[in-house]
Amino acid sequence: MISVEEALERVLSYVSVLDGEEKPILQCLGQVLDEEVISSIDIPPADNSAMDGYAIRAEDATGASTSSPVYLNVIGEVKAGDIAKEEVGALSALRIMTGAPIPRGADSVVQFEDTDEALRRERPPFQIGILHQVTKGQNVRRSSEDIARGQLVLTKGTVLRPAEVGVLASLGKETARVIRRPLVAILATGDELVALGKPLPQGKIYNSNSFSIAAQVLRYGGLPQIIGIGRDQIKDITDKLKGALSADMLLTSGGVSMGNYDVVKDVLAEQGEISFWTVRMKPGKPLAFGTIKGIPHLGLPGNPVSSMITFELFARPAILKMMGKKNFSKPTIEATLDGRIRNTDGRRIFARATVSREGDRYLARIVGPQGSGILTSMSRANGLVIVPEDVDAVEQGETVKVLMLDWSEE
Ligand code: AMP
Ligand code: MG
Repeated sequence: MISVEEALERVLSYVSVLDGEEKPILQCLGQVLDEEVISSIDIPPADNSAMDGYAIRAEDATGASTSSPVYLNVIGEVKAGDIAKEEVGALSALRIMTGAPIPRGADSVVQFEDTDEALRRERPPFQIGILHQVTKGQNVRRSSEDIARGQLVLTKGTVLRPAEVGVLASLGKETARVIRRPLVAILATGDELVALGKPLPQGKIYNSNSFSIAAQVLRYGGLPQIIGIGRDQIKDITDKLKGALSADMLLTSGGVSMGNYDVVKDVLAEQGEISFWTVRMKPGKPLAFGTIKGIPHLGLPGNPVSSMITFELFARPAILKMMGKKNFSKPTIEATLDGRIRNTDGRRIFARATVSREGDRYLARIVGPQGSGILTSMSRANGLVIVPEDVDAVEQGETVKVLMLDWSEE
């Protein structure tokens, strides 16, 4: 048996960062930038108003106050998208809307609230009273204050979140070059499995693993390719895997334990190269890893909970690495345990728990039956309490580390 860390290191050593692809920026969400983005424009392109108000010369408002306003002649109006024809001279003002370029002659903007506009009937009024002194440059957004032409705006390796998608759009960029998403083929194995939509004969169960795994692949940015159900025979599994040879990674579920019909590891041994097949963890001890025709293959255990947890620990980091990401670990927090966990055989335990904030600490409530076949326990949990290999038991009220699967409790 090998440790979780060693298993992860081996899995990661088999996958590398994929090549890039150019595509519309919105489709790049969550992907890693594979180019340097340099701006060819200034943003904002010109000095413009940060407020709706009046563009003036600051010096004209010297001494202005509510009891003794300074009155300026209004020479026109400019809205966002237009360029004012008028030049703002001494003792004049131009009515201006947010985003409109500052007219020639003006150096400041007085917002409506600091004028007597509310008392005047015409729009724009002929005259405007300025109620406060103005500092030069007030309410003016400077040309290139956000981005200057020629500036390196986003570096290669940046993960594109909504903010970065917005920044790309602000540069006028329709497409971006990103590391492509890995294609992950998923094969469920087991004579007991029935495809969704079919009647359920006695002794059979629906194939849920393909769907929980495909959803995990999707969630972390990969492209799942469900290739169906393989029977517990070397030939059938080998044949089905042939449909997956364009994938970047193969995931199978089931068939990696010690039973007579657990043939996935035999397929690996026959077709490719097997790297290991037991990890010192619970759930998830039987886990195969190797390559089939050069494609990294992770043989997840069949038990629905085990397959999801081993996916989180090993498949997810592999997908993230292929996508060019640098941070493979989910957040781990400290919480107070509500429950009791025994560790009988020196493996690392990942116990499903519901984590909630209680005052100034987190509380991790064990979700109940921890059988690795009880898939609804995953549905109730948002974290995994970690009990180290060398700890025999954790008691009620003790502090534990929790690997967070989800932060919100939606
Ligand atoms: P195995 O690892 O093949 O021995 O499977 C362990 C347990 O997981 C058995 O009870 C299987 O019936 C169950 N199992 C295996 N594959 C799936 C699947 N695709 N969907 C739901 N349960 C499965
Ligand atoms: Mg099986």
